[in-house]
Amino acid sequence: MTSIRENIEIFRRTIPQEVTLVAVSKYHTIDEINAAYEVGERDFGESRVQELQEKQPHLPSDIRWHFIGHLQRNKVKFIVPFVSLIHSVDSIRLLRTIDREANKIGKTVRCLLQVHIADEETKYGFVPEELHELLRGDDFQALENVEIVGLMGMATYTDDQEQVRAEFTQLRTLHTLLQKEYFSHQPSFCTLSMGMSQDYTIAIEEGSTMIRIGTALFGERAY
Ligand SMILES: *Cc1c(COP(=O)(O)O)cnc(C)c1O
Repeated sequence: MTSIRENIEIFRRTIPQEVTLVAVSKYHTIDEINAAYEVGERDFGESRVQELQEKQPHLPSDIRWHFIGHLQRNKVKFIVPFVSLIHSVDSIRLLRTIDREANKIGKTVRCLLQVHIADEETKYGFVPEELHELLRGDDFQALENVEIVGLMGMATYTDDQEQVRAEFTQLRTLHTLLQKEYFSHQPSFCTLSMGMSQDYTIAIEEGSTMIRIGTALFGERAY
C-alpha cells in the first residue's frame, strides 16, 4: 500500500493546479494528519464537531479546517473561532446561527450552500428552488458575518458514471446560474466543492474547484 505522503504527491501531480485538494481526515489520527501536513497539505476536512474540536488544538495553527458534515446549530459556536470554510450549510436557520456566532467574535465565516443532487433520501442539502427563495429573501440580505463563496454537493453512491456525471453537471450549471443572478458583484462566489475518492475525476471534468478526498489518501476508515 502507498503511504499518505505518496498519495498526496500523486494527487498533486495529477489534479489541475486550480483544484483545491481537501484531505478528509475524519476517523484518522493526529499522526496521519501530521504526515500529510509534512508534505505540505494544509486543507483538511472533518465531519463531526467533537472530533474536530479534539484534534484542532494538537495540530499546527496554519491548517485550514473545512467542516463538511451535517452541522447542528447548537454546535456552531465550537467551530466558528477557527474554521476556514463550512461546506455543509443546508438551512437558513443554520446560516443565521453561524452569522450570530461569527458576529460575537468579530469574524466573517466563509460558507458553501449544500445542494441536494443525489438520487438518495439520506443526503442533506437545499433543492434548487429553495436556493432561489433563500437568496431572494430578506433573512439572507440581513446576514453580515457570513460570506457565501459557492456550492457543495455529493453525487449518488453508484457505479453508474453517467448518472454521477449528470448530477455534477447539474450542480455546476446551478452554480453558474446563481453566480449570474445573485453574485455578479461578488467575485468570491467561485467555489464548487464536488468530488470524493470514487468520483473526483468526473467531478473535475465537470468543473469542480475543490475535491474532498478521504479514503484515497488515508486508506479505509475504521469506524
Ligand atoms: C467522508 C466524506 C468525504 C470523503 O469521502 P471518501 O470517499 O473517503 O473520499 C467527502 N465529503 C464528505 C461530505 C464526507 O462526509
